[in-house]
Amino acid sequence: MTLQIQHVDGADAALVHAVVRAAFSSRPPMDPPADALAETVESLRTALELNGGLLARLDGEPVGCLLFGPDSDPLLLVRRFGVVPGRQGSGVAGALVRAAGEHARAHGHRGMRVYARIELPRSLAFWDHHGFVTCHTEGVLVEMVRLFETRVQVPTADDARDLGRRLAPLLRAGDLIILTGDLGAGKTTFTRGLGAGLDVRGEVTSPTFVIARVHPNNGDGPALVHVDAYRLGGIDELDDLDLDTSLEDAVTVVEWGEGLAEGLADDRLEITIVRAVGDDVADVDADADPREVILQPIGARWSTTDLGNL
Ligand code: ADP
Ligand code: MG
Repeated sequence: MTLQIQHVDGADAALVHAVVRAAFSSRPPMDPPADALAETVESLRTALELNGGLLARLDGEPVGCLLFGPDSDPLLLVRRFGVVPGRQGSGVAGALVRAAGEHARAHGHRGMRVYARIELPRSLAFWDHHGFVTCHTEGVLVEMVRLFETRVQVPTADDARDLGRRLAPLLRAGDLIILTGDLGAGKTTFTRGLGAGLDVRGEVTSPTFVIARVHPNNGDGPALVHVDAYRLGGIDELDDLDLDTSLEDAVTVVEWGEGLAEGLADDRLEITIVRAVGDDVADVDADADPREVILQPIGARWSTTDLGNL
């Protein structure tokens, strides 16, 4: 079978309407019913003319679709997402989400947003599987968000520190950062820049011999809590440490080895530092030992912060 994903506009409204009707009327009855069932060819034409959408075809036959929200939204809204009965489980839905992700990136969105019905656990599980995290629940609607990662090249240790310094102004009290990377990757180096950017007291050093160190702020900003996760059983244990500050008042940075356990906290910034291989920078500067820093924001906290210009 050949699966094709195509961009559609107002001219394809009738095809999209047929798919929406078939997909949404096959769902269990819900109260209130899905708005999708109230769509007409005309209403879909208007929506598609405005923002476009995607249609999936299996051997030419229309089997799935989605509509895009406005391009002015930082996070691309995806709606009227459905696959016709009998064609579910053919990889159609996954292909649609991937294509929507490409579209969102190409159009400069920082991520994607969907509303799922709380009565449909399989639908929630689907979005979860595709990296969407629950941001907000209102009545029967669960807003789920997936934020895109940002990649920054840091050719030298100074660049790693500068990146930390640039990130600092985007942080606020209560933030949690999980740093992943091999020993010597540059986690502490990066945190040193973060400490400088936050203007906290005390030298930021490897926390290996203490579980956590608190660096109070020199001004009114948040303290920096620097944690070595190797010595910590889980993030819950952080609360049990008798720190001189509450985590709500601090920016917490956890240096993790690798294989980050999921579900540490709903909102977190996961930062992975990897040695860049075959990088051109090394040819230009013999002293460079380049790394790539991958910043993956997760959760509602980060949906409003733009890491794209770091
Ligand atoms: P970790 O905390 O991940 O174990 P550290 O930050 O303690 O790593 O050590 C990283 C070492 O690598 C430091 O000595 C740093 O100066 C050096 N280094 C060289 N190039 C880079 C780079 N591009 N980014 C970060 N650190 C670098
Ligand atoms: Mg370290």
